[in-house]
Amino acid sequence: MVTKQEHQERKDKALKLTVLGCWAPYPHAGGACSSYLLQAAGLNILIEAGSGSLSKLMNIIDFRCLDGVIISHLHHDHYSDLFVLRYAIEGDRRGGGRKEPLPLFVPGVPRVPYEQLAGYSRAFITTPIESLPHQSPGRDFAIHTLNIGGLEFRFAPTKHPMPGYSIAVGQPGGLVFSGDTAPTKVLAYLAQKAALFLCEASGLDKDAEAVREAHLTAGQAGTLAREAGVGRLLLTHFWPGYDPHLLGQQAEKTFGGPVELAREGETYLVRK
Ligand SMILES: [Zn+2]
Ligand SMILES: [Zn+2]
Repeated sequence: MVTKQEHQERKDKALKLTVLGCWAPYPHAGGACSSYLLQAAGLNILIEAGSGSLSKLMNIIDFRCLDGVIISHLHHDHYSDLFVLRYAIEGDRRGGGRKEPLPLFVPGVPRVPYEQLAGYSRAFITTPIESLPHQSPGRDFAIHTLNIGGLEFRFAPTKHPMPGYSIAVGQPGGLVFSGDTAPTKVLAYLAQKAALFLCEASGLDKDAEAVREAHLTAGQAGTLAREAGVGRLLLTHFWPGYDPHLLGQQAEKTFGGPVELAREGETYLVRK
């Protein structure tokens, strides 16, 4: 007899993350902006859909196999391919393909891009993350929760020029994705003991002032990951003008151990 908890643990152990795009805010030659394919519990969930990511996705699975899309915030390097995914889904549905539009979860603000996406109702069933149920583990922030086919997601607010979310997948100790954010105690809380911490590293040490209030330097990502006690740190969201290995070296100094660099097409297994 498999208990409910054992069943959940098995599901969490099977989390698979494939990097589709790791560049920001524009793609490297032949690359794509932020996008990750999450496969678990028989589901295919697209997290972020930056420029070029639909093409990368189609190298791995057909877009018709998607079960849902989650976008951390409405900067174009994180969602611009939704506009062509929309055409793909509408065409598929006209041809007798998927019966229902694809579930899409995005921040409800800014209102203008949110309303635009919500208007594509033949392609997407759009839900603002703010409308999801929430818990309040701390006095000054709320964690929104979502369940897609038995897979749990938790959303914590980021510190960025526009509202957005860091995203945890599975039970605590699973996968955590930073989204775009400056260092926050909220992210440190969400990332506690994560088996795999996919964290943005938008700048080198010398950029600390330039990215302040908006992003993490690689060194800051390493510090945050060490303090949160994560198992593996996987850096992403690379400026195309930088050598990611340099970012990795700076993150390793503060993390105190080996750091991995997101590579497009590479799959990472999330094991507790
Ligand atoms: Zn952003
Ligand atoms: Zn970004």
